[in-house]
Amino acid sequence: MTATIIDGKAFAAKVRGQVAEHVQRLKDEHGLTPGLAVVLVGEDPASQVYVRSKGKQTVEVGMNSYEHKLPADTSEADLLALIERLNADPAVNGILVQLPLPKHLNSDLVINAIDPAKDVDGFHISNVGLLGTGQKAMVPCTPLGCLMMLRDHHGSLSGMNAVVIGRSNIVGKPMAQLLLGDSCTVTIAHSRTRDLPEVVRRADIVIAAVGRPEMVHGDWIKPGATVIDVGINRIEGRNGLFGDCDFDSCAEVAGAITPVPGGVGPMTIACLLANTVTATCRANGLAEPQGLTA
Ligand code: NAD
Repeated sequence: MTATIIDGKAFAAKVRGQVAEHVQRLKDEHGLTPGLAVVLVGEDPASQVYVRSKGKQTVEVGMNSYEHKLPADTSEADLLALIERLNADPAVNGILVQLPLPKHLNSDLVINAIDPAKDVDGFHISNVGLLGTGQKAMVPCTPLGCLMMLRDHHGSLSGMNAVVIGRSNIVGKPMAQLLLGDSCTVTIAHSRTRDLPEVVRRADIVIAAVGRPEMVHGDWIKPGATVIDVGINRIEGRNGLFGDCDFDSCAEVAGAITPVPGGVGPMTIACLLANTVTATCRANGLAEPQGLTA
């Protein structure tokens, strides 16, 4: 069997198109232009690339982008004061603090200072709790993107066995909650899981969010399963980016698979834009865009 490739790049372009249409409607019918503020502390090169890309795509869908670049030695008090200003600013509908923050700053404290209604990354403890209890939340972008691709490919996920490899707060745990919300039977595997290949072999849906290049092999995959590869890794001596799955051997067995690059990655920013529109609608008591939220 050779798997269908789930084209995250094309899907993300479609989501951005839907976001742009909704932004236009908000402008035309309500005089509202959604605004996304991105806060970057320090000069981490990867973070700079992400922030640039987020700003560019925000503008491309017709929203306002506000970039706040602060020096690496910014104090916690100054960062919290900026967040307070953004919380109070009616032109700002979404706030994202680019992680990781420099070590002297307490990420939990900073993230939890964001108004939960503007927390477009979905990392605030209130949004984590809302998602965990099946209530309307701001949903973390990467898992939301994975869910959208799965729904698009399968329609209903009800009753499917899903194995999420990785238990991080930003990917693994919220991914598991979303799959549970769609009535999957969910297993969360992690670094201490016994006989991981055997656990993965039971899965109709595999989500790999580990950060270890090409760890998941084709002989771990149940024939016909859907494989969503969240990993973004580099391998010394080889050019390009690599997922957590060994693409060639997994694609031989799986029914569908996301490539790296061009799978989950592009969906993450598309979902950030979608979340900003959702936040704008909720803040103004307007109907949310269909298909852009969990
Ligand atoms: P993390 O380091 O916070 O978590 C990794 C998880 O993997 C941990 O829960 C750990 O228990 C588990 N793990 C580690 N070794 C394992 C092993 N041998 N077997 C089973 N489980 C193991 O990482 P993260 O932030 O969740 O990111 C995971 C990967 O996803 C990374 O490659 C990251 O770059 C990528 N990522 C991609 C996007 C995107 O937009 N596509 C977004 C976020 C993260």
